[in-house]
Amino acid sequence: MTTAIAFAPRAGQQSVPTGLLIAGTWRDAADGSTFEVENPATGEVIAVIANGGPQDADAALSTAADVQKTWGRTAPRLRADILRRAYDLVMERQDWIAEIMTSEMGKPLAEARGEVAYAADYLRWFSEEAVRIDGDAGISGDGKNRIFVTREPVGPCVLVTPWNFPLAMGTRKIAPAVAAGCTMVLKPPQQTPLTSLALATILMEAGLPDGVLNIVTTTSAGSVVGQWMSSKLARKVSFTGSTEVGKVLLRQAADNVMKSSMELGGNAPFIVCADADLDVAVEGAIAAKMRNMGEACTAANRLYVHRSVIEEFSTRLAARMGDLRVGNGMDADVQVGPLIDDKGRTKVQQLVDDALSRGAVAVTGGTTPEGPGYFYPPTVLTNVPADADLMSEEIFGPVAPVVPFDDEDEMIRLANDTDWGLVGYVFSQNLDRAFDLSERLEVGMVGINTGIVANPAAPFGGVKQSGLGREGGKVGIDDFLEYKYMTTPRRRGA
Ligand code: NAP
Repeated sequence: MTTAIAFAPRAGQQSVPTGLLIAGTWRDAADGSTFEVENPATGEVIAVIANGGPQDADAALSTAADVQKTWGRTAPRLRADILRRAYDLVMERQDWIAEIMTSEMGKPLAEARGEVAYAADYLRWFSEEAVRIDGDAGISGDGKNRIFVTREPVGPCVLVTPWNFPLAMGTRKIAPAVAAGCTMVLKPPQQTPLTSLALATILMEAGLPDGVLNIVTTTSAGSVVGQWMSSKLARKVSFTGSTEVGKVLLRQAADNVMKSSMELGGNAPFIVCADADLDVAVEGAIAAKMRNMGEACTAANRLYVHRSVIEEFSTRLAARMGDLRVGNGMDADVQVGPLIDDKGRTKVQQLVDDALSRGAVAVTGGTTPEGPGYFYPPTVLTNVPADADLMSEEIFGPVAPVVPFDDEDEMIRLANDTDWGLVGYVFSQNLDRAFDLSERLEVGMVGINTGIVANPAAPFGGVKQSGLGREGGKVGIDDFLEYKYMTTPRRRGA
C-alpha cells in the first residue's frame, strides 16, 4: 500500500484527483490500497491512485441505482445543457487533458489534442440529441385502441473502456448515457485512468449531479466489473476492448439478460486498387496505420495492393514511415510515441519475427530499439505470406504488412477471411468500383479514399466478432433507451 500521489502535467496546473468517485465525492479504496500509473515513454511512475475492489464496486452501483430514480426523470434540456457546458470546458482545457493523456498513454501531443477535440464532439453531439428523443402514436389495426410509444432510460449502466483512446472511448459512452438519462458506473483502463478522472472533474463542474457518474479505478477488472455484472441493479453494459474480454462480459450479461453494447477488436483490410491515386493512398495508409502508433481498433492490419502498383506504393510508404520522428510524445515535433507497455511491444516484435521467418522482408523498421520507454519503429513488410500470424491477428503496433493481389474476387475473399469485421479501407479513383468493393466487405464501416472513419455524426461499430451495437450518429443514443408502449381503448363517437 502506498499513499496516493496526484498528477498534474506541469507545475502549477490543476492536478487530477487520485480517488474513486462515488456519490460525488472522491474517496480512498475501502481497503486503502493504491496502484501506480506509469509513463510509457520513460517508464517513470507519474501518479499513485486508489485501487478499488468489490466493496467499492457495490457502493458505486448502489449509488447509481438510487440516483437513477431522479436522474431518469430530469428534463432533457437540463441534461443537454450539462453536456454542452462539458463540451465547452473540455475544449477550454484541451491542452491540460492532452498533456495528461500523453503522459499516461504516450501518443504525441498533436494526436492527443486531436483526440480531445474528437472526444469533446461526442459531448456536443449528444447534447443536441438529448432533446430529440422521440416516440410514436397511432391507432391499432382494428381501430379499437390508441397506442403511445415513449422511450425511457434503460437504467444504471456499466461502462468499461480501453487505454488506447483514454478520453474518446469514455465520452462515446458517457455522453449518450447522460443524454438518455442513465446513471453510470465506469471502470477506466488501469494503464490510463487519469484522463477519465480529469473528465469527471469537468463533468461535475458542468453540473452533472452527484452519483450520476461513479468511477472505480482498479487493477482487479474481473472482480470489480464481475461484481457489477452479477448484480441485478445494472441494466446495461457498454464495453470497448478486446474480443476476448467482450465474450466474457457477454456470458456474464446473459445471466441477468442485460442489454449489451460491444466495441471489440478489428483486423482491417486496406485495399489499394490499380486505379488509386497513390498520393492519396499513401497518406491514407499513414493515417490508418500510424494513428495512435497503430494501437487502434481501426488500424489498417493487412494492406492488399494491386500488383501493378505495389512496388511504387511500398517504396513511397516506407519512405514516409521511415521519416516519421519517434520519441517522447511530450516533445513538440515527435510524430510517433511509445507503445503502451513491454507486453504490447513484445507481441508486435513476435509478429514481425514470425513474418520475417516465413520470408517477409522489412523495407523499413523491424527491430526493437534499446530502452528506456516502449518504442517501436514504423515498419513496412513486403512479401508477407498469407499464413503469417500478423495476417490473422490484431497487430496493435506501427507495422504495415503489404500483400499483392491480381484478382479482385480472390482479394475480397481473403479480406473477409477473418472473424472480425470492424472497418475496411478502399482506394480507387473509380467510385463505382470503390462502392462495389465496399459493399462486398463484411465490415461495419468503410473509408473510401480516406484512412479515417471515426466521426461523432456517424454510427461507429462492427459486425461479426467486432461487436454489437453502434456508438455515435443518430442511433448512438438508442442503446441507452428502452421503448415503453402504453395503450387505452378508443372511444368512437359519432
Ligand atoms: P482489454 O484487455 O479487453 O481491456 C479493455 C478493458 O476491459 C480495460 O478496462 C480492462 O481493464 C477491462 N478488463 C480486462 N479484463 C476484464 C474482465 N475479465 N472483466 C471485465 N473487464 C475487464 O483491451 P485493451 O487491451 O485495453 O484494448 C485494446 C482492444 O480494444 C483491442 O482489441 C482494440 O481493437 C479494442 N478496441 C476496440 C474499439 C472499438 O470501438 N471497436 C476501440 C478501441 C479499442 P484493465 O485495464 O485493468 O486490464
